[in-house]
Amino acid sequence: MRIFHYIKGVARWTKRQNDAFSFVPTMGALHAGHLSLVENARAMGKPVLVSIFVNPAQFNNAEDLDKYPRTIAQDLALLKNSGADAVFIPVTTDLYTSGLADVDIDLGGLENVFEGLHRPGHFKGVIKVLHRFFSLLSPSDVFFGQKDLQQCLVVEKLIARHFPSIHQHNIATERDPTTGLALSSRNARLSSEGLKKAGNIHKALVMVAKTENLDGARNLLNDQGIEIEYLETIALPDMLPATDTSSRKAVVFAGYVEGVRLIDNLQTH
Ligand code: AMP
Repeated sequence: MRIFHYIKGVARWTKRQNDAFSFVPTMGALHAGHLSLVENARAMGKPVLVSIFVNPAQFNNAEDLDKYPRTIAQDLALLKNSGADAVFIPVTTDLYTSGLADVDIDLGGLENVFEGLHRPGHFKGVIKVLHRFFSLLSPSDVFFGQKDLQQCLVVEKLIARHFPSIHQHNIATERDPTTGLALSSRNARLSSEGLKKAGNIHKALVMVAKTENLDGARNLLNDQGIEIEYLETIALPDMLPATDTSSRKAVVFAGYVEGVRLIDNLQTH
């Protein structure tokens, strides 16, 4: 498995693949959710490049950035085992002084709701880094997790506008087999009691998906001491409030357990 830190080196590798490779961007602290993305990428039969970069531009909170878990040695061992071909661990100054102008994408209002509303500037930072990655590396296929549903929708807009030849794959959320808690690097910051509490997030999402009982689900979470930022049923792909005629719907959640911000969602069709 090749490891690169500078654009020059990784770009040489990507050129050798004739632009036919799969790309899995991550922020590290890897878990089975990330590895499922790598596995799906490998199933395409093309070489797989994984990036590990805790992108400062997409954090709107300095403490959150500071506390974001970093486990690089373990990440590299996991990636080697999972059959990744190359890993790109950019140096911030190299990545962000590459002379590429930032792009402004029309997000059709996605920047004003849910993650866009509660994390001002977050999607600007996501677009900034992905525009750089896609421009500099030219992958044929890119892999994202449905756990970050709104991010999938934002990336779809970036790709439609600037990278029409890239094929985007949105992969199902990996969950804890007993509680259904969505795997997340942030779960590492929870105590065992916090992890148990957080298991109720999935329960609440299932309750809303099955019964549309938003109040019941909010009570369930409040009773567990989970601070809800949002819990709503929305229509896809614009994330406006769902109506009886919406053909694709999802329940979306963000909230705090032991001061750690967690998000999750469930698509209900
Ligand atoms: P992150 O390192 O949190 O930025 O995540 C990198 C990629 O992994 C993103 O596309 C996430 O949506 C995806 N991901 C994170 N958690 C999961 C999960 N539990 N199941 C599937 N994909 C995930």
